Amino acid sequence: MTGPLTIVGLGPGAPELTTPAVSRALSEATDLVGYEPYLARVPDISPNQLRHASDNRAEIERARHALRLAAEGRRVVVVSSGDPGVFAMAAAVFEAIDTGEPNWRGLDIRVQPGVTAMLAAAAHAGAPLGGDFCAISLSDNLKSWETIERRLEAAARGDFVIALYNPVSRARPEQLARAFALLRQWKADDTVVLFVQAAGTAEARLDVLTLAGADALAADMRTLIVVGSKRTRLIPRDGLTPWVYTPRSEGSPV
Ligand code: SAH
Repeated sequence: MTGPLTIVGLGPGAPELTTPAVSRALSEATDLVGYEPYLARVPDISPNQLRHASDNRAEIERARHALRLAAEGRRVVVVSSGDPGVFAMAAAVFEAIDTGEPNWRGLDIRVQPGVTAMLAAAAHAGAPLGGDFCAISLSDNLKSWETIERRLEAAARGDFVIALYNPVSRARPEQLARAFALLRQWKADDTVVLFVQAAGTAEARLDVLTLAGADALAADMRTLIVVGSKRTRLIPRDGLTPWVYTPRSEGSPV
């Protein structure tokens, strides 16, 4: 008997944004594997359930550890925040399978989707992802900064709405400022920019800004940034944060 090994996303933070399928996989697991702060979000189910916490950077090693446990017959759940396929553990597990033990290919691997930060953040603002959009991680742990700049420019030239994950980390304080400087070469100063902190939690905070006025220093590791397209618009409201949306049609009468 082996596995299953299920890779889950807990959603952005609030327990009600964890899907019932994910909660069920968690409750059936003998072993939970993941980055410590994510494991801390999983309620204690039974004293027999083992938790294997690891450092955030050791993704492939963590994936191999989970695969070894599943091959021994444990019911393993690998925990990510948001969605496990978005800048998270699912790809690391498949990379470990691709490059690892031949018998891992026969394991019962399942991926359970979750609400990714981009969707939770967009929902606070209205409907900024109403048209075509893309997501770019600003982390250069796993890719070069040249690649990130090339993709930012391509997204700006294509007039996509751009969701920026991993805008800053302690090791990389200036990258968001560099990304804004690049985007300002291609996008108008009045392009809508959203900073959403702790999206999908009770402490969520939304700031509606412009590209000219956006201050990179205001972002932290729990901020998701949305840079609008030419069509992204505000609906002002007296004393309230404006709604933000991107019309689905190119020809809306606005
Ligand atoms: N798998 C996760 C993303 C991991 S990358 C997902 O699908 O959401 C980590 C980045 O996600 C953070 O630096 C931040 O940009 C974003 N993020 C994660 N949770 C967030 C939240 N609740 N609010 C805003 N941004 C969040």
